[in-house]
This record gives sequence, structure tokens and C-alpha cells, in this order.
Amino acid sequence: MKHKIAIFVLLSGIVSTLFLIEELALSITIITILTILFLAVLAIGVTTIKWNYFIKSVNRVKPGKICFTFDDGPSENTLKILDILDKHQVKATFFVIGEKCIKHPEIIQKMMKSGHFIGNHSFSHQNNIGWSSTKSVIQEIEKCNLAIENTAGYKTNLYRPPFGVTNPNIARAILSTNMLSVGWTIRTFDTQIADPQKLISKVKPRLNNKGHIVLMHDTCEQSVLALDAFIQHCKETGLEIVNLNPAEIP
Ligand SMILES: [Zn+2]
Repeated sequence: MKHKIAIFVLLSGIVSTLFLIEELALSITIITILTILFLAVLAIGVTTIKWNYFIKSVNRVKPGKICFTFDDGPSENTLKILDILDKHQVKATFFVIGEKCIKHPEIIQKMMKSGHFIGNHSFSHQNNIGWSSTKSVIQEIEKCNLAIENTAGYKTNLYRPPFGVTNPNIARAILSTNMLSVGWTIRTFDTQIADPQKLISKVKPRLNNKGHIVLMHDTCEQSVLALDAFIQHCKETGLEIVNLNPAEIP
């Protein structure tokens, strides 16, 4: 919707400029500025899922609560994440990659047994998803759904686009597969910060009562220690850790 408004504003601006401004050089300058602004907004819209630029996503839970989500697994490291969650008796959502799901069905079943949610993070986590056709994104979603159903016996409707990238094709694919797009408000950058202490000191101050959905990766070793510290912090500050139940979504 926001994208359609931006297109309307751009086209109205161009038409008005052509009709109202007589000086050619000035018209060209205004149209160039409008186009650059449009492209800048478009670029941020594609890469910032919480803008809800192409599709409305769930980016928060209710105030006073917090939700931890893990992308890109399952992997051997997921077991350590599961141990930390079990130790603190809290639940999380894992956005799994379909082909890894097929490789590690026992980890998926362990997630299920511990009461965590499983979401769809595409079948192969294509690097070029931003350039994929609607049909290709639909196939990626459906193949991952099938992999989850076959390993977990569980049908998910939660979908997080790889890299959090959205565009008109991805939005159409999400709508036509009846998935619920899930974003985040806090990106931990745990794939880039290898030192767990650095990761903890960077993210912990941001874990407040604004209903954050936190993006982590169960593939990263540093995320294990960091998760332990984050949960401890939530307990100390009275933040309720919840999962992506419909009742927790504002
Ligand atoms: Zn991912």
C-alpha cells in the first residue's frame, strides 16, 4: 500500500512539474530529485521489513513482552540454543530453512517436543530472492512448508523472508500462500559479531518493554551465550518472554 502511495506521489509530481513549470532545466531538476527520492524510499522499503512498505508484517508483540526468534537453522548449534531455552523454560520461534529441515529432522522434532514454534524461512534461502519471480518465491515457501510438515507433522503459517527482503513479488507470494509475514524490531547482528561479550553489551541495553521481536541465528555459536544473558536480563527487568501466539500480537 505504501509503495502504491509512493508511485502515485512520484507520478503526480512528474505530471504537475510538466504542466506547471515552463523552464525545461528546472523541470528536469525537479523530476530528477523526485525520482532519486522515490528510489531511496524504495531501497529502504525493500530492506526494512518493519516499514510494512510492500506487505504488513508482524514486527512486535504486546508492550511489556519480548519474543526471541532464530533464523537459518536447524544446525548442530541449534541443540545448544534449545538447551538454554529449556534451562530457562521459555519458548521461541525458529524460522527454519527447508533443506536443512530435511537434513536434521531429529532437531526439528526436539523443537516440537520442547513446545517451540517453527516458521518458514524458505526452502533454500536463495541469495537472489530480491530478483525472484512470484512463482519461484511461492515454490520456495511451499517446499519449505512441506519439509516442515513431513519432519514436524506441523503446519505453520509463519513466514520470514530470507534477509527480511520484501518487494511486490514476495508480497504477492506471501498473500497467495496465506502466510503471515514476520519481521523484527531488534536485529542482533549475531552473524557478524563473533565475540559474545560484544554482542551482549551491544544488544542488552535495547531489550526494553516496547514489545520487541528479536532476530537471532541458531547457526551462530556466539548466540548461545548471548541468549543466556538476554534471558537473564529479561527476567531481572520483569520482561515477559512470549512466543508468537496470536494473543501476543498487538
Ligand atoms: Zn536467513
